[in-house]
Amino acid sequence: MTVGVGVIGTGMIGTQHVHRLSRAVVGSSVAAVFDVASDRAAALAQEVGARAAGSWSDLVEDPQVDAVMVASPGDLHAEQVLACLAAGKPVLCEKPLATTADDALKVVEAEVAAGRRLVQVGFMRRYDAGFRDVKAAIDAGEIGEPLLAHAVHRNPSVPDTFVGEMSLTDSLVHEFDTFRWLFAQEIVATTVIAVRHSPLASHLRDPQIVLLELANGAVVDAESFVNCRYGYDVRCEVVGSTGTVALDNPRTTIVLGDGRRGEQVPPDWGVRFGQAYQDELQAWIDALAGGATVAPGASDAWDGYAAISVAETAVASFTRHGRAEVRLADKPRLYTGEGRS
Ligand code: NAP
Repeated sequence: MTVGVGVIGTGMIGTQHVHRLSRAVVGSSVAAVFDVASDRAAALAQEVGARAAGSWSDLVEDPQVDAVMVASPGDLHAEQVLACLAAGKPVLCEKPLATTADDALKVVEAEVAAGRRLVQVGFMRRYDAGFRDVKAAIDAGEIGEPLLAHAVHRNPSVPDTFVGEMSLTDSLVHEFDTFRWLFAQEIVATTVIAVRHSPLASHLRDPQIVLLELANGAVVDAESFVNCRYGYDVRCEVVGSTGTVALDNPRTTIVLGDGRRGEQVPPDWGVRFGQAYQDELQAWIDALAGGATVAPGASDAWDGYAAISVAETAVASFTRHGRAEVRLADKPRLYTGEGRS
């Protein structure tokens, strides 16, 4: 069975996903695409043999579209995902699930009303080999009880449209999902610590450090630095009661020359996590072809809701210059072990 995917949003990552789904993922084809930049969407549709839909709702209703990938700007995600749920179609929504916790909760409530999970959220680190090894080491008890973690998330630069809070809602939202997943604990409070600003990005409060308190008392310190200039750098170390597990950048060639020994840093997220996006899409398509609606171990609507709730709390902490507590709704049975379908 070939899964026909409709892709909403053919910007930077949407175009990459269209290429993967049409060329590299086994068992999928791109049935339709939509973007408000209609010329770009039409050219991409022609390139991969898809239909250029007239609107995103037209794409969702298209009978050739078995499942939908949402890669539009974040503030459109909730509305588009809700339309997929109304049409009964599985949907892989790029992060964030919504830009407010209230909107993300509406998605959770719609799924609960429908009685089944249809939504997967694009936190692709759960498919990154390095992060999976960290998770496996923790789950196998190799470091004893995980107690704390240090995390670094640096981008070389960001566009002018990137404003202060986006470090929390767009960038560190990955860490919020990652550490909930690695520790299998909800994040219950955040404290954003003001740091001396980089003079190279004076319009941003950059870098920032966020302390995350988890439900069992573990603590994570996460640095966001979105104008570090030298490359894309995502690392972490989890400290346990009997050992630690650390994730470095993927191993690269060591160059010795000019009196120095050095290795390359990935230039951007597309290079660092390219294989993770591929594996994420393949796992989704395999799940759909096998009759499931969400890939095993993937972030679901609850995870998307929890991550944006933490981001929203971190924004409150940033604004108030103090600790803020995360307030989550009660977790519906649909998302707990026994209720998960
Ligand atoms: P982008 O390059 O701006 O692409 C978004 C596209 O959606 C643009 O072509 C935009 O057109 C279009 N669009 C605007 N309104 C639309 C509508 N009503 N319906 C459909 N499409 C519409 O942004 P991006 O970097 O690809 O990011 C897209 C999403 O992916 C964001 O939520 C982002 O956070 C996420 N993302 C995730 C990762 C990850 O690591 N998982 C990495 C990158 C991005 P205009 O430009 O004309 O507005």
